[in-house]
Amino acid sequence: MGTVVYQKIYGDNARPAYRKAALEIDRLEKLMSFFIEDSDVSRLNSAAGNGRVKVSHETLYVMEKSNDFAKLSKGAFDITIGPVVKAWREMSKQSKPPSRHKINKLLKLVGHTSLITDKNTGEACLERKGQAVDLGGVGKGFAADRVVGIYKELGVKSAFVNLGGNVMVVGRKPGQKPWLIGIQHPRAPRGVKIGVIMAQDVSVVTSGDYERFYHIKNKKYHHILDPRTGFPADSGLISTTIVCENSLKADVLSTACFVLGLEEGMALANRMGGAEALFITKHKDIYITEGLKDSFFLTDESYGYRCFLWK
Ligand code: AMP
Ligand code: MG
Repeated sequence: MGTVVYQKIYGDNARPAYRKAALEIDRLEKLMSFFIEDSDVSRLNSAAGNGRVKVSHETLYVMEKSNDFAKLSKGAFDITIGPVVKAWREMSKQSKPPSRHKINKLLKLVGHTSLITDKNTGEACLERKGQAVDLGGVGKGFAADRVVGIYKELGVKSAFVNLGGNVMVVGRKPGQKPWLIGIQHPRAPRGVKIGVIMAQDVSVVTSGDYERFYHIKNKKYHHILDPRTGFPADSGLISTTIVCENSLKADVLSTACFVLGLEEGMALANRMGGAEALFITKHKDIYITEGLKDSFFLTDESYGYRCFLWK
């Protein structure tokens, strides 16, 4: 998944749980990767405009959920953004960003309604040639949910997993202390926290403009694209964190909110029920929802960032 996976497991069965989880992540990557030739996603993308392909029930589930969230976010989250993601990735090797003309042409291929899934047959299809699905904004969340499922099957009562910014915790730390989950400072070196969230049995997922880049002619273009423009989202937010019980949901929402910006992102998070949000703006303001009031703490390295309650 192009990232580092960090597992911390306490108690009986820690070792088998670790091994089983690592194998599961590997298995899911082989199903959902954009880059592995015979993954479900690659086969679906190759067959675009050419009929249905059989996919695993996991991939089908992730695509169905993604399409539900595409509707809820009014298209801010859309896994059919694939052709545009690919264009930006390829331009990384060039000396200029993709032209507006090229992006506009590719945007015609984006639209979740043309990704058809059929639960009965286990098949999926993309209606038009050139279309492509990219699960980069949701796959890690789904994998984190599966990992925690494995921990629970094996009776693990205290664990922490971090899949490239998708954190999920089980129970409390040994000694009954809650987990403290660090939130990366968006404008400081990796590993420097802007704050911590005290958590128990939840997922904490962050999307940030500092996470991944396309380097083009000494300029950085971040990796979260606005499906309305085809360009890196420029909503005024530089980091969006969602806290909720389900990591897939947190993963999708963090990406969607990043695209939507402060007002619309908060409205979406509120509509979802059970999802708390922490957004950081480019003006050094941090907004948190009511549910994080007693569990989020700014750390010393916050460098003048200020925290407000979003009402
Ligand atoms: P995340 O790091 O979870 O916010 O997801 C970002 C990744 O999701 C990118 O690297 C792309 O692979 C993909 N992506 C970018 N923009 C979008 C979008 N608007 N909707 C869905 N997926 C996206
Ligand atoms: Mg995401």
